[in-house]
Amino acid sequence: MLTFRLLRNCGLSLVLLACPLLAGANDGNLAFIGATLIDGTGSAPIENGVIVITDGRIRAVGPASDVTLPEDARVIDVSGKTIMPGLINAHGHAGGTLGLETGHYSRANLLRQLGLYGRYGVTTVVSLGDDEEQGFALRDEQARTDLDYARLFVAGDVISGDSVAEVRSAVNRVADLGANFIKTRVDDNLGRTPKPAPEIVAAIIDQAHIRRLPAAIHLYYLEDAKAVLRAGGDIIAHSIRDLPVDQEVIDLIQARNVCYIPTLTREISTFVYESEPEFFSDPFFLAEADPAVLDELRSPERQSRMRNSAAAQQYKVALDTAMQNIARLNTAGVRIAMGTDSGPPARFQGYFEHMELWLMVEAGMTPMEAITAATGVAARCMNLDGLGTLEPGNWADLIVLGENPLTDIENTRSIESVWIAGNPVPDS
Ligand SMILES: [Zn+2]
Repeated sequence: MLTFRLLRNCGLSLVLLACPLLAGANDGNLAFIGATLIDGTGSAPIENGVIVITDGRIRAVGPASDVTLPEDARVIDVSGKTIMPGLINAHGHAGGTLGLETGHYSRANLLRQLGLYGRYGVTTVVSLGDDEEQGFALRDEQARTDLDYARLFVAGDVISGDSVAEVRSAVNRVADLGANFIKTRVDDNLGRTPKPAPEIVAAIIDQAHIRRLPAAIHLYYLEDAKAVLRAGGDIIAHSIRDLPVDQEVIDLIQARNVCYIPTLTREISTFVYESEPEFFSDPFFLAEADPAVLDELRSPERQSRMRNSAAAQQYKVALDTAMQNIARLNTAGVRIAMGTDSGPPARFQGYFEHMELWLMVEAGMTPMEAITAATGVAARCMNLDGLGTLEPGNWADLIVLGENPLTDIENTRSIESVWIAGNPVPDS
């Protein structure tokens, strides 16, 4: 029994040597030494860095010359590697999709998808809507030292309704369940559906604030962004995609330091399957892809439907506008948080977050800005305490990379291991 306990807990360094694979960070002290550290704050990287982890959290971090290793620490030498915080997807979805179908929300499906996100180094997912009871339950369970799949934050039902009274009570219902955010949509789906009336949107935002919750708004049009910002909206959940952003909207964003989540890969997903996308032959994608899903997306009927879809072609143009807007907003100093809207069918969780980072850099952000948008800035934008940066006290959610992403943003794909609360994320 004692031996079993020792083996399980790896509480002694002698035993640790014998069972390194069984040892999690939370059985004592764990230390990574020798890596270049990108800490997620936007500060210059630390060469020959050390991170000490105790009970799932970062206890010390800094250059080797400044950090003392605890005597009992299990030391992992990652010389020549780069460590960065786990990615935070500030706008994703989880739990509902199976294959290319929706309607499969369950705890098992959530856990499957949170494992998938985790293996891709996305250690936190902010689900902006369509969350059910099982998602709230997982959110409530995740502040634990043995966690080894991605963290989840939830918005519950997307709020909509025909009257002010109706939407105020819908906000109350979601707030009573313990949602982290209130989410609503202000869109006409390229002129195909009616938009909610301004007083409805204003009531949703106001009621969110009464319940002390941030209001995240799905939008498309520049004019709607201005109206939503004037009404007190807190988070812009998609790019402005109809027109170039102007100084007026930048001023409105900056007056309350609102965060902007571009979700460029959402646009990609609306048109890219009109032919076979290049990423269908990318090993980093294929490692987790379901061949049946790829077959379905390759079907000539499906491809031609997308090719002939006016909406798909319009969203293709919208992507260009969205990317130009990122450049302008970034130059103006607007807080940009990485988000993908992954989770719905054919928006591939995990893979799309790396594509999003690449697109953000294509749009004009530096690799450091894109990484910060996906770590420290995302955490602050979404009020995620204890996450997003490699700083003492924070959860030890991090990625060990073979190559430095500051040299080339695509190096975020060179994942060697992912750690959540100091635990290695297991293979599938
Ligand atoms: Zn969404």
